[in-house]
Amino acid sequence: MLPVNQQTSEQTSEQTSELTTHPASQPISATQTWRNWSGVVECVPQQVVYPTSVDQVVEVVQRCNREGRTLRLVGSGHSFTALVHTTDILMSLDHLAGIIEISQIEQTATVWAGTKLKALGELLFNHGLAQENLGDINVQSVAGAISTGTHGTGVTLGTLATQVVRITAVLGNGEVVTCSADDNADLFHALQVSLGSIGVIVQVTLRLIPAYRLVYESSRVTLDDCLSQLEDLKQNNRHIEFYCFPYSRTVQLKRMNRTDSPVSDHGFKDYFNKVVMENYVFGALSGCCKTAPGLTRTVSRLSASSVPVGREVNWSHRLFATPRLVRFNEMEYNIPAEHMAAAIREVLEYIERERIAVHFPIECRFVRGDDIWLSPAYGRDSAYIAVHMYRGMPYESYFHGVEAIMKRFGGRPHWGKLHYRAGADIAAQYPKWGAFHAVRQTADANGVLLNDYLRRLFGEVEA
Ligand SMILES: Cc1cc2nc3c(=O)[nH]c(=O)nc-3n(C[C@H](O)[C@H](O)[C@H](O)COP(=O)(O)OP(=O)(O)OC[C@H]3O[C@@H](n4cnc5c(N)ncnc54)[C@H](O)[C@@H]3O)c2cc1C
Repeated sequence: MLPVNQQTSEQTSEQTSELTTHPASQPISATQTWRNWSGVVECVPQQVVYPTSVDQVVEVVQRCNREGRTLRLVGSGHSFTALVHTTDILMSLDHLAGIIEISQIEQTATVWAGTKLKALGELLFNHGLAQENLGDINVQSVAGAISTGTHGTGVTLGTLATQVVRITAVLGNGEVVTCSADDNADLFHALQVSLGSIGVIVQVTLRLIPAYRLVYESSRVTLDDCLSQLEDLKQNNRHIEFYCFPYSRTVQLKRMNRTDSPVSDHGFKDYFNKVVMENYVFGALSGCCKTAPGLTRTVSRLSASSVPVGREVNWSHRLFATPRLVRFNEMEYNIPAEHMAAAIREVLEYIERERIAVHFPIECRFVRGDDIWLSPAYGRDSAYIAVHMYRGMPYESYFHGVEAIMKRFGGRPHWGKLHYRAGADIAAQYPKWGAFHAVRQTADANGVLLNDYLRRLFGEVEA
């Protein structure tokens, strides 16, 4: 019997009993409003299902095909775009979570696709293994993170989907398939970043490396120094990212590198900087900006002058993520890596010229190119530029302005973050767009996995 609209603590016998470190996310019920993390997407699904086996996933997909119904998949709801939106059936794999198999020889782990990255990090650590890179939060599900091309930073490191070596999915037509770069390669390259439009990803095999420690260093530098040293910074650090503060010429530079040093003591100062300064104080200031947008310039300059300077050593999976307690809306663009400096200067000039009321810093990262058909990093080493706006403050005009700049640099939007592109306009950015849709149409001929947002994005209806 398939659990519908409720959570159950039962695990199937195939599931690992190791999954004890992370509670399932808040249960969602039918006729209850579902909202994404920022609250910008909401819907009322007719039914919410939590399968506990692959057979149950197949059962739901087959029923959708028989009855002409549609199905959307949700991980942790941390995408800003309407990917998850449905008024029909919503499926969560919260009960298909944990490690299925580890190979120490191949340094791989096969995991249930509903596993949350935070739990996965600890489970892998118990086996002396780690993911080679992560983004700046770890609450996403494995399937959700790879499906939108989620990435961290580092010129030698690809998006999280590049860590995937094998996928098992229930296609939109109900067929269960396992594929890899050597076996059914077209399906694999299409599924790796597929926005939940080809099949329900149920199992993922990840390429791993031995567990490692990183030293994190945060410093305050000028924009000119940061941009003039960018090539050196990129090449000489495993991970580099920087935050540019609107209306200021100060930059927060974050670097992370492998180290043999012992893990730092986590004292009050770390907690104060990470949680109090970066979240509660910034949250209070953001509330002031929402009430009085004229304050944004002052708050941005104040934040720039209070950039934390310091270092910390920890195991990689514990260092990548930072708590994000202040809610915002976000757009992020991928452009060819060589355009980072020119693009960021244009964005800062645009903000000042148009007097945009924004106090959130602009986040800048680098990612190695890949061969995944719908990955924004397809075929090019990439720079990522992300703009944010405090929840409840108007963001559309700002994001439109930044998008126009990114388009001039050949920008491709992050699939999980807000953007205004669709159809032929976005298809032209992806050499494998046609190949992707050929695979998708075979895998899901009845369009069971499509919602209105995806139909517009894919150019099947007018944008
Ligand atoms: C505070 C915050 C910080 C973020 N930081 C980063 C960052 O550092 N780097 C970055 O690149 N992105 C970042 N993101 C974006 C985020 O990583 C992506 O949007 C990611 O897809 C969210 O994962 P999720 O589990 O919440 O998936 P959801 O948002 O729930 O779903 C994402 C997509 O995956 C599909 N999906 C879910 N489960 C399955 C399944 N089993 N099979 C097939 N498809 C499935 C969904 O249908 C949807 O299309 C951030 C977002 C927030 C809110």
